[in-house]
Amino acid sequence: MNLHDNITTLKNLGPARAKAFARAGVFSILDLLNFLPRDYEDRSVITPIADILPDLPFTIKAKVALAPKNSGFGRTAVTSAILEDESGRIEALYFNQPYMKNALQKGEIYYFSGKVILRADKLQMQSPDITKLSGNPLNACRIIPVYPSGLGFSQKLIRGYIKDALDLCLNELTDNLPEKITLKYQIMSRREAISNIHFPKSRDFFLKARERLIFEEFFTFQIALRALKGAVKKQITHIKIIDDDYNGLNIPFQLTNAQKAALKQIIADIKSGHPMYRLVQGDVGSGKTIVAAIAAYLAIKNGCQAAIMAPTEVLANQHFESFTRLFEPAGITCCLITGGISAAEKKAAYYAIQSGQAQMIIGTHALIQDKTLFGNLGLVITDEQHRFGVNQRIKLSQKSSAPHVLVMSATPIPRSLALVLYGDMDISVIDELPPGRKEIDTFALTTAYRKRVYNFISEQIKKGRQAYIICPSIEDGGKLDIENVLDYAAMLKDTYLKGQSIAVLHGKMKPAEKQEIMDSFVKGDIDLLVSTTVIEVGVNVPNATVMVVENGERFGLSQLHQLRGRVGRGSDKSYCILFSDSESAMSKERLSAMEKTGDGFLISELDLKLRGPGDFFGTRQHGLPELKIGDIVRDAELLAKAREAVMEYFDDIENNGEIVLDEFIEAVAKGF
Ligand code: ADP
Ligand code: MG
Repeated sequence: MNLHDNITTLKNLGPARAKAFARAGVFSILDLLNFLPRDYEDRSVITPIADILPDLPFTIKAKVALAPKNSGFGRTAVTSAILEDESGRIEALYFNQPYMKNALQKGEIYYFSGKVILRADKLQMQSPDITKLSGNPLNACRIIPVYPSGLGFSQKLIRGYIKDALDLCLNELTDNLPEKITLKYQIMSRREAISNIHFPKSRDFFLKARERLIFEEFFTFQIALRALKGAVKKQITHIKIIDDDYNGLNIPFQLTNAQKAALKQIIADIKSGHPMYRLVQGDVGSGKTIVAAIAAYLAIKNGCQAAIMAPTEVLANQHFESFTRLFEPAGITCCLITGGISAAEKKAAYYAIQSGQAQMIIGTHALIQDKTLFGNLGLVITDEQHRFGVNQRIKLSQKSSAPHVLVMSATPIPRSLALVLYGDMDISVIDELPPGRKEIDTFALTTAYRKRVYNFISEQIKKGRQAYIICPSIEDGGKLDIENVLDYAAMLKDTYLKGQSIAVLHGKMKPAEKQEIMDSFVKGDIDLLVSTTVIEVGVNVPNATVMVVENGERFGLSQLHQLRGRVGRGSDKSYCILFSDSESAMSKERLSAMEKTGDGFLISELDLKLRGPGDFFGTRQHGLPELKIGDIVRDAELLAKAREAVMEYFDDIENNGEIVLDEFIEAVAKGF
């Protein structure tokens, strides 16, 4: 038998059960070995009956003292058995399992594991799991694994399959970590880890096994990112940027010092002869777009194309407009490619992009599709990088050979996460907002304040300002306490904000419709936009001064910070109101944190702490790799260790001149 054999080669594992396993992503024996327990039960300690206490689970080794008895019928059937060991007696009860009467044989010794309760002054064991003294020791006298439920068959069966798989194939498992590293970091071997993650010899063995698997996961991911950077850095790019004068651009403001500093680093990168591989991180509104635009201008001025990829159509359209405004006077042709443009427009765009006629290309995911071929792409920019997966970032840079890569992220990312997401990218931080910005006043309120807020919006509109209201859903989903865009807008039009120009915006609208609404909002024809989070990233309407979020508890802190960043972009005082009636202490803490600070880095650290990394970017956002076992917060120390190991590994490769990088890059482009 072999690791890659189908699990149906195991004893007693027929097609029906194989199908259940398939739903859990388990096909081969190797998959089964990687099917990890979700929990464990410690049955390694056998307690004398005299020592057990109520309300806790215990394992006892006891004889069935009398023949078990059944009472009641059907659903009310109760089986009672008296168990005894040298220290005393206890009653075990089974409900609605009349067959237990025959399963338990008088005079026989079993291990019983189950919860103990106190009833009418007597201790009882409820529905304990039994294992005959002579039976399979997998289920007793040890720490036993508990697998994810939902397969539709018992834990005992799953344990049996896993045990068989371990017995038959464990020896075939090879170690995928270099020996030098497992030795230096005292990492358990893969074989031992897989064996102990299922059936730990002890708590210590379990901890070492888990540590090994987490280390391996972090190591693999980071090595791929490092490989990517290493590969990029070593390349010699044919894209030579010599002329770094951008006076030809008519920039309507003075760059901030932080923008200038980032730009200086970018210019040094693109002139270095090696591809740039840089992340520009800056809080919402810090002015990343202009920095990217200048870089694009220089690339184009030196004879190549530049492309910028945005996560939403709304943002791509907005970039198209601002790039066109900036670039057209300088004689540069811009081209938009999104899912929303017509087939004829797309065809024209493909042609313009491939022929090189289009110099600045702005788009959504449409940019990385196979059909989009570039003539001479020299600089690729990803905006709001955290909304894209690592693989998408790689795909875009594969559109050309050794292009310069610039990624921008508005979500300030805690260091631990930055390491995972960006590997060893060079990072520029824009830590300064353009002058004249006023702090955004933030209020976390219950919905009892709605009327006052509507009055306030009305006043702001009278002053010529504009506002956003964000609802979590598009239409009535049947849940009473979740606001939806359609009903909400209708309600406001009929009542509190009668006569104002109110429009709705959401993800189910056609791209052209969305665009039309955004255009009117930018022009000021619309006073109030009732929207889902489609406007969350990047949208820039400086005249908007009020951001209201309904069901504030349903959004991540970083997401709320992004939403708040839609206002306060002009010179007028701006406000953010977060409504929530949630009683949960965690929600209250999160929303009050928003009131207290406007610092995106603080917010992201807090968000990560409160929510854990899985939810960090909200459910729609997939920038994070899906880690199976590691947790970036809980296992921060291991993450750092794995990172150190990766660096050493790379030093070794460099010294030995081995080239294995392509393989890693392929792996990441496919997976994660
Ligand atoms: P973000 O970093 O969130 O992408 P943007 O690039 O959209 O921010 O910039 C936000 C707003 O600030 C835009 O209206 C932009 O024109 C303006 N802006 C950017 N840099 C400056 C500056 N140095 N001085 C004044 N306004 C600026
Ligand atoms: Mg932006």
